[in-house]
Amino acid sequence: MPELPEVETVRRGLEPLLVGRTLTSVILRAERLRWPLFPELTTQLAGQKILVVDRRAKYLLIRCTSGTVLLHLGMSGVLHLLSATLPPQRHDHVDLVLDDGNCLRLSDPRRFGAVLWCETDVAAHPLLCNLGPEPLSSEFDGDYLVRRAAGRKGAVKNFLMDQRIVVGVGNIYASEALFRAGIDPARPAGKVGAMAYHKLAAAVCTVLEEALAQGGTTLRDFNDAHGQPGYFAQNLQVYGRKGLPCVVCGTPIRVRRLGGRSSFDCPQCQGRG
Ligand SMILES: [Zn+2]
Repeated sequence: MPELPEVETVRRGLEPLLVGRTLTSVILRAERLRWPLFPELTTQLAGQKILVVDRRAKYLLIRCTSGTVLLHLGMSGVLHLLSATLPPQRHDHVDLVLDDGNCLRLSDPRRFGAVLWCETDVAAHPLLCNLGPEPLSSEFDGDYLVRRAAGRKGAVKNFLMDQRIVVGVGNIYASEALFRAGIDPARPAGKVGAMAYHKLAAAVCTVLEEALAQGGTTLRDFNDAHGQPGYFAQNLQVYGRKGLPCVVCGTPIRVRRLGGRSSFDCPQCQGRG
């Protein structure tokens, strides 16, 4: 599944290619992805000039003259910028056709992606209005986590993965950040100390920045119709390393179920918090 660093990398790649272009038409080849693909999209988007390519959580926000396209890659979505005359493949469900003869083509085998149009303030959109701050914004820091964690009995890992607390911290990044901060993922969020939350906020930023740096070096050519993005080949220290020695102390990495997800930690290094 594309995570926040992957989506941000896509945004950075697309922005210079899309800004200033005008959408001439929209081709819909499916009735729905995660939600219906409304036929009105074809008339709503035609003639819109693309002003900015933004991101909020894992939504790409293509801001146009009179509204915003919300685009989500779901579980398996891939975007390519290619000639609109290239015949679509089986899972190519949506084309946003541009005035230069190219199109932004969404391929989504599992159909959990989304393409929506919003003509009002996009920050107030039901999908976005309850989201927590961006993890790489100034709003997100140790003090913020301390404030939001007060009195919470649930595991700190689930707290960190709650999109209402902070967006874009999936299972992998939560596991890695908790390891670096030396916090037991199962510890009740309200029992984690202020010092530990400062370390955790910094660790979240570090793991995301590292992933973004990887993305910068492995950024796909959006004109390549056959490219397949995946997880960035990041240097994971606990995630997926069950039974392997901890990179710090050599203790075998443990896996437990937390909030229905596999949770990896070092029982030696992560006893604090
Ligand atoms: Zn260890």
